Amino acid sequence: MFSNATEFKTAFLKKLEMSYGTSFAESTKREQYQTLGQMIREYGSSDWIKTNETYRTSGKKQVYYLSIEFLLGRLLRHNLMNLGIEEVVSEGLHELGISLDDLEEIEADAALGNGGLGRLAACFLDSLASLSLPGHGCGIRYKHGLFEQKIVDGYQVELPEQWLRHGHVWEIRKGDDAVEIPFWGHIESYNDNGRLVFRHMNAETVAAVPYDLPVFGYQTGTVNTLRLWSAEPSRYTGNVDIIKYKKETEAISELLYPDDTHDEGKILRLKQQYMLVAASLKSIVRSYKKQNRSLLDFHQHVSIHINDTHPAIAVPELMRILMDEEGLGWEEAWKISVHTLSYTNHTTLSEALERWPVRIFKPLLPRIFMIIEEINKRFCEELWDRYPGDWGRIEGMAIIAHDEVRMAPLAIVGSHSINGVAKLHTDILKEREMNNYYQVFPERFNNKTNGITHRRWLLKSNPALANLITDSIGPDWVNDTLKLEELLKHENDSVFLEKLAVIKKANKEKLAQIIEAKTGITVDTSSIFDVQVKRLHAYKRQLLNVLHIMYLYNRLKEDPAYDLYPRTFIFGAKASPGYYFAKKVIKLITTVADKVNNDPAVNDKLKVVFLENYRVSLAEDIFPAADISEQISTASKEASGTGNMKFMMNGALTLGTLDGANVEITELVGQENIFLFGLKAEDVLDFQRNGGYHSQEYYHYDERIRQVTDQLVNGFFPDTEGEFTAIRESLLDHNDQYFVLRDFAAYIDIQEKVGEEYRNRQSWLQKSLVNIAKSGFFSSDRTIREYASDIWNIYPVEIK
Ligand SMILES: *Cc1c(COP(=O)(O)O)cnc(C)c1O
Repeated sequence: MFSNATEFKTAFLKKLEMSYGTSFAESTKREQYQTLGQMIREYGSSDWIKTNETYRTSGKKQVYYLSIEFLLGRLLRHNLMNLGIEEVVSEGLHELGISLDDLEEIEADAALGNGGLGRLAACFLDSLASLSLPGHGCGIRYKHGLFEQKIVDGYQVELPEQWLRHGHVWEIRKGDDAVEIPFWGHIESYNDNGRLVFRHMNAETVAAVPYDLPVFGYQTGTVNTLRLWSAEPSRYTGNVDIIKYKKETEAISELLYPDDTHDEGKILRLKQQYMLVAASLKSIVRSYKKQNRSLLDFHQHVSIHINDTHPAIAVPELMRILMDEEGLGWEEAWKISVHTLSYTNHTTLSEALERWPVRIFKPLLPRIFMIIEEINKRFCEELWDRYPGDWGRIEGMAIIAHDEVRMAPLAIVGSHSINGVAKLHTDILKEREMNNYYQVFPERFNNKTNGITHRRWLLKSNPALANLITDSIGPDWVNDTLKLEELLKHENDSVFLEKLAVIKKANKEKLAQIIEAKTGITVDTSSIFDVQVKRLHAYKRQLLNVLHIMYLYNRLKEDPAYDLYPRTFIFGAKASPGYYFAKKVIKLITTVADKVNNDPAVNDKLKVVFLENYRVSLAEDIFPAADISEQISTASKEASGTGNMKFMMNGALTLGTLDGANVEITELVGQENIFLFGLKAEDVLDFQRNGGYHSQEYYHYDERIRQVTDQLVNGFFPDTEGEFTAIRESLLDHNDQYFVLRDFAAYIDIQEKVGEEYRNRQSWLQKSLVNIAKSGFFSSDRTIREYASDIWNIYPVEIK
């Protein structure tokens, strides 16, 4: 199509004219962006075709990653980079007077996910394709992604997200591959020559229409597919009230559930899950059958992964297909199904474990419910043999109990592999939260520590650092991130360390400009950029961070001689719309920011910034500019975290608890290159089990705690009467569930240490270097290689 800038220019101008009937001079930025996007998709399309053909004819095992969320972010520059045409294109555009950076800004940030879980799925897709592995994503094409956050008077306001308003250039609608999905109705069974056959009668049918996105590997020729399903009215549904039917149908793929911890709108949510699963499995089985292979070998050629419990209905749905549609018996179908399916657990927070009331589940998905009942019956019989008479245990482990269907037990019983997402998390699953199941299926449990794609989170978002690394150790680290360790040869090389410092400073300048433009706040780029960006949740303890800022403010006011090393605290966080406490914490952060930023007495030492609408594209500007990475969750509550890995890879030092993957970060960099504090997971879990924590004691004995918690309600913040009462009550009246006060003193101490150590520039840069050098382990390439070999049994397929 084009192989140099001149050819690109010609092709671009021609395409622009043909697509929009407009001359270049008259064209808008959006038309230019759309044109470029189409060209790139077309550029990669012959490889896409070749990849699909190779997969079809080679018979190599494929994996399908089912996830209710994919937090993709923008794709333009990432696709250019992976296709290896970034330079040619940017040069060609430049000659036309167009800046690639400007066009990139036109692209909507595809936010089909809430946070870490959805971003993990997106990183995994990039790694699969970049490792030439045959792996595809299956998700939902939400019309509106995660809400857009505005801060108005210090409060979060949610606006509907509109990523599809101008269409999405990367997707292709595959109308011919639509799948009919039945809901409601009832099941009839009859005997057909000795075989019991089931028929779904009077179902309300919905058409699931796939939209395919190419997933380009990093300069490999592999182009995998992310298939996103959209719900549309079906021609095959019975006699219905058309308007109501259309509305209810389209509602299924209308909205991403903005809530990643509690469930609302249960029927709709369950419909989303079933549509994702039923449509994906149908299309997987269809393409499998095109290869003329026996269903008895299905698990040898197909692996299906359940990302958290949202797609756990894959267990009964695969059974339904194998039995009702393919005529297999239970035992045969069960063996194939279990060998095909694998499941990742993402949380031990009990409020996040999915359960469905039978009164909703059974009428909506009658055949699926029947199959789950049978799975449950057989599982409970097994348990009965193993633990005769131990009703309590069996009831606790059952898939259906107390009029609820429990999705985690369903996924555990129906999968051959169950993994946690960091060592500590997997240990907690095995030894505590899922110990009952671990005793029954010890061989199924394993750990796969999360990772991030270094291509987006270093190569693309921090090109200056990536170039410095390549200049120093050559380009091989891009395909083998463990090679980053070679950077350690520079540990005592002050010239190299200075180069690191220059890059960090430039990234901080860039972020400072963004902060200034968005908030009007001027920040000092020689101050420590201390950053906490992630979803707002009580267990992540943004509250601990902001209470500490209040403490610093008090101290500066009381003792003007207090020599605090200048700090800029930066926050970014969306709160779930219905999450009252989280929204109060946002208001507290913005209120503290107002107070601090407008007080000239502390201004040269302290600034607080809340960046609204935290999302992937903003994150790409934040991580490269951070000095301190705040990972301060209550120990045992953060399954892994992935933000911690992005910070580390960009040279920030972690200030954190021994939680999630922070434990593994510590093992890699050593205690001297990380700032640890607070309770350990064991302590927290023991307190929860045995009691013994009394938050009010900390209020009484620590004056600093008394001062900041009193300031929440005593008029310290003007015009906020009653505003923060709930926060104070959570700490003092409800015994501080997340141990904020328990860890407060330790947090102050470690923050003081951060300030002291930052003064020693050489030593700080050395620590930063060690963090970058050791971050290779957290590439999602490592994670995906482990999934591929230990769980999925898939191998690279070369695309010629
Ligand atoms: C990485 C990432 C997350 C996850 O952050 P954690 O700190 O691991 O919770 C959430 N949102 C976005 C936009 C991200 O890029």
